[in-house]
Amino acid sequence: MSGDSTRNRVRHQVVDHLERLQREGMWGLSVPAPRQEREPTVPPVDQAPESAVPDDVLPLASNTPPPPADRSLQPLEAEAHACVACRLHETRTKVVFGVGNPSARLMFIGEGPGRDEDLKGEPFVGRAGQLLTRIINAMGYEREDVYIANAVKCRPPQNRDPQADEVAACRHFLMGQVALIEPEIIVLLGRSAIGTVLDLHAPLSRLRGSFREWKGAQVMCTYHPAYLLRNASAKGMVWEDMKLVRDALAATAAD
Ligand code: SF4
Repeated sequence: MSGDSTRNRVRHQVVDHLERLQREGMWGLSVPAPRQEREPTVPPVDQAPESAVPDDVLPLASNTPPPPADRSLQPLEAEAHACVACRLHETRTKVVFGVGNPSARLMFIGEGPGRDEDLKGEPFVGRAGQLLTRIINAMGYEREDVYIANAVKCRPPQNRDPQADEVAACRHFLMGQVALIEPEIIVLLGRSAIGTVLDLHAPLSRLRGSFREWKGAQVMCTYHPAYLLRNASAKGMVWEDMKLVRDALAATAAD
């Protein structure tokens, strides 16, 4: 028998002996039962002690105030896009709902979309609109700071004035926009917008130049930018009106 095989036989005998001693409890070497690995259990949120639950998964307390009412313009806009309440839907390309900051302090309201607005679906984007944008910039604002809409949301054919029944059919969209935006100041651009909102039909020269109170907002009547394109001499009067608006906004911002 070789030396290696003798050493192996002796090693096996020693191992067998030690294992027997362990099984018999000698030296306190009782062999522990195999350890069962278990998945850690996480109590459901509603059974866990409150201190163990991160704040962000605590259920809402019953006295938590409800979230603020949805003040998004989107449902109203979606309604306008599907509207067929007056004849203007027959000839429109796009509904021109409004554009700008839905929380604006300043809102401009014009008469109705023209050809460029009808094609693009955005108010005041043609030549008159570019002039309005320059006026807004001269007041110290960007177009995105204010909200711009029209009395009717679809283009009257050949740019005629919107008719009374068309204005009446569309009025709830404008009133909804004003109610949701809650502007501090509204600028009414031209006779049609003034008639729609304030039901005033006096010459603009008598209506412009001072504020009126309407539904909690200060309202300034002034000439439509399209009128300024034809009557450059009226630009000075519009700028006087816009300076009053700018100063009123600055005064309330400083309060
Ligand atoms: S103008 Fe106003 S009321 Fe008439 S179809 Fe367009 S969205 Fe409707």
